[in-house]
Amino acid sequence: MSKTYDVVVVGGGPGGLMTAKVAGENGLKVALLERKENIAEIQRCCATMFAVESDYYFGERMYFNEKQSRFIFPVTGFSLKYDGPYENFYGWHIYTSDARHYIRLGDYDANIKKGDKGRLSMAYSKGHLLQGLLKDVQAAGVDIFPGENVVDLRCKKEGNEIYTASGKVFSGVFTVAADGVNSRLVKILNLNKERNFYGTMKGINYYMTGLKLPHPYVLIMPTLYEKKSGYPVSYFLKPSPFGKDEYWVYVGGAAHTASNYKEQLDYFIYESPFAQWFVAPKVRKELAHVHNIWSPVPTPFRDNVLVVGDAGWTIEAECTGSMMGGLKAGHALSEAFKEGNLDRDGVKNYIDWWYRHFPGSQNYTEFLQIMCSPLIGEEESNYLFSLVTETLPCTLNPFNIYKYINGAIAQKVDRIQKERPDVLQKMMHMSTLPIETLMDPFKRTGFPNS
Ligand SMILES: Cc1cc2nc3c(=O)[nH]c(=O)nc-3n(C[C@H](O)[C@H](O)[C@H](O)COP(=O)(O)OP(=O)(O)OC[C@H]3O[C@@H](n4cnc5c(N)ncnc54)[C@H](O)[C@@H]3O)c2cc1C
Repeated sequence: MSKTYDVVVVGGGPGGLMTAKVAGENGLKVALLERKENIAEIQRCCATMFAVESDYYFGERMYFNEKQSRFIFPVTGFSLKYDGPYENFYGWHIYTSDARHYIRLGDYDANIKKGDKGRLSMAYSKGHLLQGLLKDVQAAGVDIFPGENVVDLRCKKEGNEIYTASGKVFSGVFTVAADGVNSRLVKILNLNKERNFYGTMKGINYYMTGLKLPHPYVLIMPTLYEKKSGYPVSYFLKPSPFGKDEYWVYVGGAAHTASNYKEQLDYFIYESPFAQWFVAPKVRKELAHVHNIWSPVPTPFRDNVLVVGDAGWTIEAECTGSMMGGLKAGHALSEAFKEGNLDRDGVKNYIDWWYRHFPGSQNYTEFLQIMCSPLIGEEESNYLFSLVTETLPCTLNPFNIYKYINGAIAQKVDRIQKERPDVLQKMMHMSTLPIETLMDPFKRTGFPNS
């Protein structure tokens, strides 16, 4: 016998928990299914920077109020209590592969003097965020089913049936696919067949101590190049919220079978030009991720399933974007029941909002352009970056950083033409290539869940 609900939410990440919380608080009968036994346990890489405080993102200007300990979303119109640890950082430094030069986004020295007011953003604990949301979900009377891996969905006239690996069946008038970037529900709905596949990405991160950095409280991003293939490999370092001397150190890139990212991370720490920063390296924790890169879903609604968060976006909606989506989906579902419109029309407000704040607010192909820009080559990239000596605006919005960097490089075109016409020619050529061609190294070794 299946249990019947108004809404069955699949996935207990930021998007799913927020949907379940709002729909439950608004009086709907809600089930939350999550495959992890411990919903708040973090098993996958996440830098958990509050993305983004410094700029508009997904049409929102979110920020953290440290006095009230609240995440605030003034445009979407909600706030959330956050009681966990956090650590500020005050700029973004993008390094050349030889560690000899970095592009500065934000004036670190000036910003750090301003304290909370000068930060680019803060790194927080996702476990604390999920735990707080989960408490609200429990208080809202939602039936929570941890350890339930959803394996199938059948869409019927009277509602959807959701099947789990343990043999349980749940029925819901509506279903919410908040099952993350490699969403099984989106695949079952055949939505992946209508998306462009751009490849697969993987990476690992360490939480580690024993670093001595030139600027301890910035987001640092060096790009190195794999020795055998020559492919770019991206690194990130940033303060961890879990201890003054702890850092989050990440490496990732295309999921080539030849790429061993653990080896790459160890190379970075022990042998690369950046090894001097790791004076007494000690790893406390290691996490990994693998995810597919798709264009956004053509629609965030099919067969009474609402798609929320990463499940329907390109690479990541960020925790913030997923929570915004969850809030809007939860309210739209409540409205659908109030009006008795138990179909697409009933949740129109969510669908309209999603188009406005996701594909309408940023062009996903620009994100992919960012990933491809190091393909110009190691020496060429180091040369171009070395030209940017001015301090650029402080932003954590990934769609804006390369606009600033490319803008700065564009101002040096005459110099590049004189010094390195070969590089200019390569830049011009790359700018004419379609994104599908640029993403080919990712696509060739990817494995789509279509
Ligand atoms: C390297 C890296 C760095 C990042 N850094 C940041 C950052 O600094 N700031 C930020 O905001 N975001 C960051 N993100 C992105 C962020 O992690 C995601 O955007 C966010 O977690 C998406 O939330 P979600 O609820 O949509 O999906 P998820 O958090 O992925 O949640 C999906 C949930 O569904 C569950 N699930 C999946 N399949 C099933 C199934 N079949 N049955 C039942 N349950 C299922 C999963 O176990 C998971 O709990 C980063 C991601 C990566 C990979």
